[in-house]
Amino acid sequence: MDQYDFIILGAGAAGLMLARAMAEDPWFESSRILIIEKEIKNKNDRTWCFWEEDQGIYDKILNRQWSQILFKGKRLNRKMDIHPYSYKLIRSGDFYKEQILSLQKAPNIEFLQASVLKIDEKIENVSIKTSVKSVTGDRVFNSLFDYKSILTQKDYPVLQQHFVGWFVETDKSVFDDKAPTFMDFSVPQKGNTRFMYVLPFSPTKALVEYTLFSSVPLEKYEYEEAIKLYLEDHYPNTSYKILEKEEGNIPMTCYDFESRNTDRVLHIGMAGGWAKPSTGYTFKNSMKNSRKLVQHVKKGFPLRRFSVKSRYWYYDLLLLDILDKNNQLGADIFEAMFRNRSPQLILKFLDEDCNWHQDLWIITACPILPFTKALWARIFK
Ligand SMILES: Cc1cc2nc3c(=O)[nH]c(=O)nc-3n(C[C@H](O)[C@H](O)[C@H](O)COP(=O)(O)OP(=O)(O)OC[C@H]3O[C@@H](n4cnc5c(N)ncnc54)[C@H](O)[C@@H]3O)c2cc1C
Repeated sequence: MDQYDFIILGAGAAGLMLARAMAEDPWFESSRILIIEKEIKNKNDRTWCFWEEDQGIYDKILNRQWSQILFKGKRLNRKMDIHPYSYKLIRSGDFYKEQILSLQKAPNIEFLQASVLKIDEKIENVSIKTSVKSVTGDRVFNSLFDYKSILTQKDYPVLQQHFVGWFVETDKSVFDDKAPTFMDFSVPQKGNTRFMYVLPFSPTKALVEYTLFSSVPLEKYEYEEAIKLYLEDHYPNTSYKILEKEEGNIPMTCYDFESRNTDRVLHIGMAGGWAKPSTGYTFKNSMKNSRKLVQHVKKGFPLRRFSVKSRYWYYDLLLLDILDKNNQLGADIFEAMFRNRSPQLILKFLDEDCNWHQDLWIITACPILPFTKALWARIFK
């Protein structure tokens, strides 16, 4: 059986970022690394956005970047400058291509196109059975996410960020391509947290995505009806054609993903709880955590001790507790934040990068009663 020092399961965002971070570090030069992925990774199946200051490592494959964002709520309709941040967009096809081309040049990295069928952890190594062959690894980084595993636990609510998006091209110039719509809560909430997310590529091309933070996904036609209505309402007398579609479902939960890690198998990406529970943003966390993980391995620390949890986990937990019980409150909470605080500070907070004083400043911008009740309920649970 082929033996590797490290095996990465899944060549999605997290698997490729981790492999790249390992490939670029001379410490791993003498390690044999295998990446197992079932698909041919070349599709534009995800439109990834994130914000960062200044230049970043993926700037050469950016499709677009903006220095302003738009937020719309019941009483707020504000286009905001986010300097020094930029809101950056990468199409997954470009990301996969660039990452894989670079990794193919690394002599210590191999790819296996196969489905992982079984992971069997033993005292001396981890054996991976795939649809092609079986291999063993000293340590395994697993990005294969199984929604069922979090839905069966009862300690933490599981909301889902579920969405369908249409890439549309209009016959008139209707989109403001200077500013993506970060959240537009002016759509009917129907007892949920529902918003429209619009990424304008040009005055005639945009991705229009109907998004919910709630516990149960809708039927496909309901998202599509909502997008149709939104386009008709916002851009009257405009015809459009649908160029492409995308959809997704990102877990929003404070479930302790890390409890499943061992000294030989560490979960990464969505499977490792790297999706921010309160927003679903995962891409930038994966950049950050992959680099942190490489340092952790180099120091010889046990994998089990790797943790990405911070005090923000608790803030996220309170928000999810609120939305789990009163799903309709999302619009008010996000609107209060954007009405009362600067977008830069909000983005910094969502990046989990503030000091205590700034945390408090953001938290006190939100409606206080639901948070107090959620805190009280958690303490006395
Ligand atoms: C449409 C969409 C848009 C998103 N937009 C954003 C965004 O704008 N910003 C953001 O921060 N996050 C976004 N996300 C969330 C998150 O960044 C992505 O889901 C990201 O792809 C997660 O990375 P990952 O490596 O954890 O999982 P994935 O990228 O899904 O990688 C897992 C890999 O494992 C492979 N695999 C699965 N099962 C097996 C098996 N049995 N054997 C072998 N291989 C297997 C899959 O083919 C896949 O390549 C989005 C998600 C979706 C779905």
